[in-house]
Order: sequence, then structure tokens, then C-alpha cells
Amino acid sequence: MLTIKEVLLKSSDFFASKGIDSPRLDAELLMGHALRMSRIQLYMNFDKPLTEDELTCIRGFVKRRSNREPIAYIIEEKGFYKFDFTIVPGVLCPRPDTETIIEVANHWIPKDRDYFICDVGSGSGCIGLSLLLEHPNARLYATDISESALRCTKLNIKRHNLMTRAAPLKGPFLQPIPLERPIDLIVSNPPYIPTSEIEGLAPEVANHEPRLALDGGQDGLDCYRALIQQAAPRIRDGIIVEIGLGQESAVADLMKDAGLIDIELHNDLTDRVRIVSGRKPSI
Ligand code: GLN
Repeated sequence: MLTIKEVLLKSSDFFASKGIDSPRLDAELLMGHALRMSRIQLYMNFDKPLTEDELTCIRGFVKRRSNREPIAYIIEEKGFYKFDFTIVPGVLCPRPDTETIIEVANHWIPKDRDYFICDVGSGSGCIGLSLLLEHPNARLYATDISESALRCTKLNIKRHNLMTRAAPLKGPFLQPIPLERPIDLIVSNPPYIPTSEIEGLAPEVANHEPRLALDGGQDGLDCYRALIQQAAPRIRDGIIVEIGLGQESAVADLMKDAGLIDIELHNDLTDRVRIVSGRKPSI
């Protein structure tokens, strides 16, 4: 009978041979998920033999990962900022790059009054729901055109018990939010990859993540054009968006042209410009 240690070794060697970046970590995450054990528990039970059922389950996970399916889809979870979110195929896997939106928004959101946020293209809901968890006075509209993404947003609203403060709405950009509803802040990580570049991305992304969450049109900027145009007249406070590498001046210009001020660029955790924000001038 094979032990936890033996199967971990075999799986991580297999992943390495498939060109997977973090073979040992991935093997441990999948094993932990199959056995419902933390990674520490795995280490404490290294010599435990696996049952036939456990092995079958792990083999299934290893096969999926060797096809370069993202870990988050297999273990149905991903940590983002300070929280864990349920992830299903059909939504973008949250990335640490996006956490900078939360850091910027945390400085903007006042503590002492109702504050209305809209997360456009909510996907898992990781951006908007993290903000709700950090700011008890905030309320959220989470919009997405994808049915499966919105289903995932709803799972996470329930998971974090935010039903009274979050409204998941299906539709493009701000369209599903009735015009009389206030919006203070828009946050968004829209699709921004130029169509022709998608095929060249890592197989995890190109073959498994939803096209709808990635494809930003010919120059990658389609969503910013539509979003900023709709946002500028409606927001009371401002907008914070994630961008792809090198898109900052184009997106800053779109914000300027729409009449926004105080346009700022922010770096992600690897010190590259990945976030652009703009404010509504006060009247
Ligand atoms: N808002 C989600 C995220 O940042 C989904 C973004 C998207 O689908 N482009 O992970």
C-alpha cells in the first residue's frame, strides 16, 4: 500500500515532468483536499497508508492538474486578500495582483456613512465581497454578464454571510443597476487581454479560464471604453480598475476624457503599474 509520502513524491515528480511551476505545493494541496487534511497534517501523517478510495480520488485530481487545470478549480477554493472564496470552473481564478484594488479602495471608503460600491464583472465576487468584509458600512452591487460567474458570486455572498449587503445582478457593466440607485465607487478587474494574445498565455489560462473573463477585444481596451463612459456620470466618488501591463496611459486618458480628475497609477505586489484610479470632481 502506498503512503501519503510516497504518493506526494510521485505526484510532484509527475507535475514537474509536465512543466508545472510549483509541483510539490500543488501535490500537497490536492492531497490535502482529497483527505480533508491541512498541509501540516499531511506532514504529520507521512507514513499513513492510503485506502483504495483515497487513491482513486487523488489520481483523479492529479490527472486534472496534469492537464494544466488550475488548482483553484480542482479544490474549489482560492485565498484572496484576507479571505477564502469558493471557485468553480467558469470564473476567473482570483490573483494576488488584484489585491491592490482592495488596498487602494480601503483608503477611499469612509467609515462613518453608508457607502455604495459596484464590482463590475464580479466573477467569484472576490473584490467586492472583500471590501464588504472590511467595511461594515458598505453595500455592494455585483454585476456580471456570465450566468456561471454570477452563480459563483452568489455562493460567496452566502459563504461570507453578506446577503443583506450584497446584490448580485446579471447584465453588462452598470446596466442592471436602476438609475435612481446611488453608486459611490466602482471597482473592476475587467477582461483586458488583446484577443490575439490569449492563445500564447499559460495553458492554465488559455485552455481553462473563461474567454469572457479574459478577452478585452483587439487592443484589450474594449471594456474600459464602455465602463468609464457609463461610470463617469454615475459615480459620486470614483473608479478603481485593474489593467494589463502597459495599458496605463490609454486607460488614464479614457478617464481624463470622461471628465475624471486625480488620476493615479498604483503598483501591484511585484511593483508594476497594474491599477488606475480616477475621482469625480466635486460640484
Ligand atoms: N472580479 C473577478 C476577479 O477579479 C473576475 C474578473 C474577471 O472575470 N475579469 O477575479
